[in-house]
Amino acid sequence: MSDTVAKRLPYLEWALRFDRLGLAFVAVVAMAAASLFVPQPWNDILAMSAAGAMVFVHQGQSARRKIFAANQISQGLLSIAEDCIKLLDLDGRIVCISETGRRLIEASSTDVLVGFDWIALWDTPDAQQAFDRAKAGESVSFSGSCRTFGGAMKWWTSSFAPVVGENGKVTAVLCKSRDITTEVKIIDELRGNARVQKDMEDHVDAVFWTASADFRTLLHVSSAFERMWEMPISALEADETAWAQRVHREDMPELRSKMKSAVKTGQSTQSYFRLALPDDRTRWVRADIYPVIENGAVSRVVSVCVDATAERMHLQELHRLANIDSLTGLHNRNAMTEALVTRCATGEPLAYLFVDIDRFKSINDTAGHSAGDTVLTAIAERIKSALPEGAIVARPGGDEFTVVLPGVFDQERIERACRRISLACHRPIRVGCKSVTLSCSIGVALFPEHGRTPEELFISADMAMYAAKRAGRNTFRVFGEREKNDLARAHLESQLSDAIRDDQFVLHYQPQYSVETGELAGVEALVRWNHPQLGLLAPGAFVPVLEESPLIMDAGHWIIREAVHAASKLTTSMPAVRSMAVNVSPKQFRDPRLVSVLKQAIKRRGIEACSITLEITESALIENLDDAQAVLSAMREMGVRIAIDDFGTGYSSLSYLARFRPDLLKLDKSFVDNIATDAMTYTVVEGVIDLAHKLGVIVVAEGVETQDQLERLRDAGCDKVQGYLLSRPVPMERLVELAPVH
Ligand code: C2E
Ligand code: CA
Ligand code: CA
Repeated sequence: MSDTVAKRLPYLEWALRFDRLGLAFVAVVAMAAASLFVPQPWNDILAMSAAGAMVFVHQGQSARRKIFAANQISQGLLSIAEDCIKLLDLDGRIVCISETGRRLIEASSTDVLVGFDWIALWDTPDAQQAFDRAKAGESVSFSGSCRTFGGAMKWWTSSFAPVVGENGKVTAVLCKSRDITTEVKIIDELRGNARVQKDMEDHVDAVFWTASADFRTLLHVSSAFERMWEMPISALEADETAWAQRVHREDMPELRSKMKSAVKTGQSTQSYFRLALPDDRTRWVRADIYPVIENGAVSRVVSVCVDATAERMHLQELHRLANIDSLTGLHNRNAMTEALVTRCATGEPLAYLFVDIDRFKSINDTAGHSAGDTVLTAIAERIKSALPEGAIVARPGGDEFTVVLPGVFDQERIERACRRISLACHRPIRVGCKSVTLSCSIGVALFPEHGRTPEELFISADMAMYAAKRAGRNTFRVFGEREKNDLARAHLESQLSDAIRDDQFVLHYQPQYSVETGELAGVEALVRWNHPQLGLLAPGAFVPVLEESPLIMDAGHWIIREAVHAASKLTTSMPAVRSMAVNVSPKQFRDPRLVSVLKQAIKRRGIEACSITLEITESALIENLDDAQAVLSAMREMGVRIAIDDFGTGYSSLSYLARFRPDLLKLDKSFVDNIATDAMTYTVVEGVIDLAHKLGVIVVAEGVETQDQLERLRDAGCDKVQGYLLSRPVPMERLVELAPVH
């Protein structure tokens, strides 16, 4: 404002040439109002009017008229000025004052004010000081408060403009005071808010931060930082990254990544970290990080950090309680799993022991559960003290204990550890007035040999423990080949059930040729497993597992349906192929549904039953003679043909041939292998074929690999042959390409 005053001073000087103060005042006020206090465009209009008034006065009219005219103009101008405008004499007393000024000062009339010591009104020495400077010729302003004549406390900002007389001396001071009470109140209120914020920041135990979006510049850090970080805020002024020095090294990467992700995603996030404080103290801090989004981009980041030490301690305690077996104080299953996860991740070798108390149930049953608890507590204590430092002992439940022993274990070390545990269990335990003596069975699994994950180790040790039980209890067993096979089997079995559900089986077909004509006479369907990871698997890899599980039924039914379907396709594409042989496992053969499944399939595909041959091993027929006979007659009734598979490997009693009267006999590969080199074998084969023919049974030789073998079989009168010499088992599409052999 004082700038503006200075710019407009020429007007003032000009106006003040008038010797009469009253007239000068009018002119000055007109000029002042026009030049200083009235906003544009009024400013210009008023300035012109005031100038006009001066000119009018100057042109030598009578003094009265001059005064009157100037008065009119000044009154008009003053009446539209919003501030209190007055002229003060050099003592600071009011010479004249504008009507608006009177109103603002709440005086009854302007007359009351004339001669009033205006400077004395103020409760700040600033008033006197500013006035003194104005008297010295400066244009100055000051702010302060004073009471009005009405008693109200008001705030003002006042500007002084010295009035310089013709002699160049200040003769009076023109003053404009603006009532700024409302603004001051607003500012006060705002200051109040800022104070509230500061009070909050000072007294709430949370650190409030504002930082630039790249976290490089700290825009604001509240005072609680000093208490939480135990570091003066001035340290941040010197180095904005000083706060990070206190953050625990292990926690920094996660904190940084959370900070970055908040900015990247625009989503608020939370991070826990530790502050490494002097004297090896640690404080947990929870930081909530909020990105501030302006115009679609993160402009800065606000964060609130609170002391989370108590929260963490509480969590740790809960975690401890959740990981402790309340009876024995040992780790529980949960804790053991967690410990194993951590250990396995390091890759360091270890032994995992599964200890089961032998016949513990009888204690519970005969002496009661509290006696049982006493025993378990005592055993827990003893196992723990029997093992070296670094061992982890847990009670996952019941009478089972598990132990992790870090390090490399050979047989001797395992034995030593197990013996210690056994002895710990074996010492008599007092229960009331009795004493009990117990033993335990221990299963051992080594990491990484017997399992690479906690789950695998659990299973391996469990299986080894059962092996120890089987071996008569009170002993230990290390997971071995047998358990490994059992496990592989169990794994395969679980995968096989998926295989059936997901249609992973396929049939390949091995041609059988007529020895006499060389024509393709039939095929044998042989199952394969299209394993999702291992590729095409031969039946040797899974059929034995299938046969030992109930899954063989479902798989067998699928094979029958598929083979019958294939047979129906062959009747049109390869009419010469008149026989489709299907292998049936012994279990399947005893299943009463076999007949109906086969019947339905044949009916559905509309083929002749005699084009299907069921291949059954001798043993399957002999295992349950009566049932076998019943199934055989049902088959025969249907028209399905029967072949005895692998003839010569099982009982090979020729009397069974007469008894079962199969349609075909499949001479096992072991005969074929030797037929060309061993005369005795040739004689046996020749005899078998002869007898078979006498009984009306067709003979098929399988596993023919050489031309010699084929020739010898021809000499012996064999009817059909199959083998790699002629063709391997092939998918249906390839069958068609196979040419007849002579
Ligand atoms: P198998 O019924 O005795 O089948 C003949 C096996 O000998 C087939 O093995 C066949 O590929 C193989 N083979 C044929 N010619 C030769 C040869 O010249 N040299 C040699 N080294 N091998 C030859 P594959 O397909 O691996 O089947 C093995 C066994 O799995 C079968 O013996 C059978 O017992 C069983 N199997 C195969 N498919 C099925 C099925 O669909 N159901 C049931 N229950 N068992 C099946
Ligand atoms: Ca077979
Ligand atoms: Ca066979």
